[in-house]
Amino acid sequence: MTAKTAFITGITGQDGAYLAKNLLEKGYKVVGAMPRRSSSGVNLWRLDWLGISGQVVEEDCDLLDVASLIRVLTKHQPDEIYNLGAQSFVGTSWSQPLLTGQVTGMGAANLLEAMRLVRPEARFYQASTSEMYGLIQEPMQSESTPFYPRSPYAAAKLYAHWMTVNYRESFELFACSGILFNHESPLRGLEFVTRKVTDAVAQIKLGLSKELRLGNIDAKRDWGHARDYVEAMWRMLQQETADDYVVATGRTTTVREMCDIAFNHVGLNMDDYVIIDPEFFRPAEVDVLLGDPSKAKKQLDWHAQTSLEDMIVEMVDADIVRHQAAK
Ligand code: NDP
Ligand code: GDP
Repeated sequence: MTAKTAFITGITGQDGAYLAKNLLEKGYKVVGAMPRRSSSGVNLWRLDWLGISGQVVEEDCDLLDVASLIRVLTKHQPDEIYNLGAQSFVGTSWSQPLLTGQVTGMGAANLLEAMRLVRPEARFYQASTSEMYGLIQEPMQSESTPFYPRSPYAAAKLYAHWMTVNYRESFELFACSGILFNHESPLRGLEFVTRKVTDAVAQIKLGLSKELRLGNIDAKRDWGHARDYVEAMWRMLQQETADDYVVATGRTTTVREMCDIAFNHVGLNMDDYVIIDPEFFRPAEVDVLLGDPSKAKKQLDWHAQTSLEDMIVEMVDADIVRHQAAK
């Protein structure tokens, strides 16, 4: 049997890199969309970190350029299409709301339309998000909880989510939406709170920094490990029928507690270093997210394997190694 081909948008991001590694280990041919940025070219540091950059087929491709999507789908005829590409940072979505709408919302529609035209028999995964629950309507959010987006990012993702559902119902495409709660790793972008904390803890421990400025540390998130979550994406596309799934740990923790875990790991007290700075508060906050992963457990036989404590320790240690290497 010839190997299956997967096409991944967002392959240079955290999840794209872990997913590529996961699929390569399963024997897939992996094709990645490489959106060129004129100043620095494509940034492959995450694929390098996982040791797989030479194993991925790179294609110049951008979610905003539907012709480039059609060209790549025509050329590679993928069996599975994972749409992970996005302007993914909630904070930036208030300063670049239109770009976020274009890439995160319309980008998904571009890819669905390209698939409908060129490769309708492929299976499609949309990277939806717990941010769509926003001002939560139920204490524990499941696939049936109503949405209430609280940022331009969440609104754009909600459009992409409903387009995925609509393309499934209108055109009988095999299109799944994974509603993933926050997931982190040593490959997380530095702007997100977990990595901001673990990087700062590493710098403080090594004497490279003296403080950490944060916003609302009372916010609560359901945090898991990206390495675990990409496996759930793949399992969704192996089912008999396409569906939507919540992927979460079922545990929620404050930013403060997460921060405490990171400082404790290196023998420091967060109260000696953390400064609350209004700059990092948001125009509208998502106070708490807590996912109900029972459907994923039952139908995908999936559960989160990495605890928050183990993940934060892994992230702090990786950041210490990085800063030591750069010294
Ligand atoms: P990242 O921000 O790490 O990665 C985003 C990726 O999208 C990058 O590879 C980026 O490329 C790419 N991208 C940006 N603009 C375009 C474009 N115009 N065309 C093609 N690609 C583009 O995000 P994550 O890996 O953390 O998340 C993956 C997906 O899952 C995202 O859609 C995110 O919104 C969603 N999600 C993430 C969650 C999380 O907790 N991590 C939770 C729920 C959903 P480049 O770096 O070159 O700009
Ligand atoms: P999000 O859930 O996708 O917005 O992921 P983030 O990691 O960006 O933020 C998680 C939570 O941490 C949000 O409620 C933020 O308001 C809160 N938070 C508190 N301080 C900070 C900070 O300095 N940076 C970020 N990114 N978030 C912070």
